[in-house]
Amino acid sequence: MVNSNRLEESFRRLGAVGVQPDGGITRLAFSDSDWEARALVIELMKQAGLAIRTDAFGNVIGRREGTDPAAPVVMLGSHIDSVPAGGNFDGVVGVLAGIEVAACLQDAKTKMRHPVEVVVFMAEESSRFGMATLGSKAFCGKLAPVQLEQLKDKQGITLADAMRQRGLAPEQVATAKYAGKIKAFFELHIEQGKVLESTGDQIGIVTGIAAPTRVKVAITGQADHSGATPMDMRQDALTAAAEVILLVEKLAGQEAHNGTVGTTGMVKAEPGVMNVIPGYVELGIDIRGIVGPSKQQVVTGLATALEEIRQRRGVEIERTVISDEKPVEISREIVEYLHDIAKQGQYACRLMPSGAGHDAMHLAEIAPTGMLFIPCKGGISHNAAEWANMEDIVAGTQLLFTAVSRLAE
Ligand SMILES: [Zn+2]
Repeated sequence: MVNSNRLEESFRRLGAVGVQPDGGITRLAFSDSDWEARALVIELMKQAGLAIRTDAFGNVIGRREGTDPAAPVVMLGSHIDSVPAGGNFDGVVGVLAGIEVAACLQDAKTKMRHPVEVVVFMAEESSRFGMATLGSKAFCGKLAPVQLEQLKDKQGITLADAMRQRGLAPEQVATAKYAGKIKAFFELHIEQGKVLESTGDQIGIVTGIAAPTRVKVAITGQADHSGATPMDMRQDALTAAAEVILLVEKLAGQEAHNGTVGTTGMVKAEPGVMNVIPGYVELGIDIRGIVGPSKQQVVTGLATALEEIRQRRGVEIERTVISDEKPVEISREIVEYLHDIAKQGQYACRLMPSGAGHDAMHLAEIAPTGMLFIPCKGGISHNAAEWANMEDIVAGTQLLFTAVSRLAE
């Protein structure tokens, strides 16, 4: 059984690392506070009976040996680094729940055939080096030494140097690639959205992890006098942009049943004064989904409609695809496995996509992977107000414990 007092105490201790005077927690990747948190987690892992090893990227792996050491590993993991003035739940829930699962196995003195490992992935947040999920990328063999020299923080310190300062050898990052066999990987995480809170469900079983396609749309019209130019003689870039913004909403809305979402989060209008018709507008559009063809439908629909708007309004439209990533599908078997356990445990649960990226999306490429969400207050995350109830954390951990013990037997 999950020991909620022990778990709560671990949250309290980790929550004291990186506390900011004006609220929130700052544990940027490879910073002093990140390293302090890592040391604390290593201590907690040892108390839970785990044998510690680290890889070339600094990822921490705590192992509970199986009766058959050669059997594939049942793995749990997440991250402990944070955004500036963030919370103590994003990532932390998955790590501390993993350690609690190990502690429960130790309490019960259960002999398991399969080894169980709890992994702390370094540098999940993009806040310091501008790229997210670096540790899990390295773990899956997707990070090259040259990238470590290229990525820099605001002070100009390269990721490679930040690693060297911690006694790591960036040139050996390729050796961080996990060499063993993984039977399954699980990550428990706060939802970072309001779905569970609004439906009253305690557990979300993730069916896929959305990946964004980002499109920049630049519209060039004609900046004219707002008083002297009749309505039928205008090439207003901003009214054209308004059509585009509504179009993104409409196209994504038509694919809502597939969980696809579309957002125009960035608008820049020039010259940006009240008495001049806007002559130039730039839009930043983010289209995400877990169903590849559905997301593509919105992307292509947008491209077609832009051409129509261009012709009808007599403006120039330039469309640039900035990034285009593939969504991660979670295997049906894993979803059903977790769903069955949740139903047996009588947790209020639902199947749902993850709109945000997580370490699990890389693990899904090398092992059967499952993700569980628990609610967070108001859906707020990456913020000092981030909060998850201990009751929900315990429920998620209990579910994880059942999932791991059944597979590791
Ligand atoms: Zn996270």
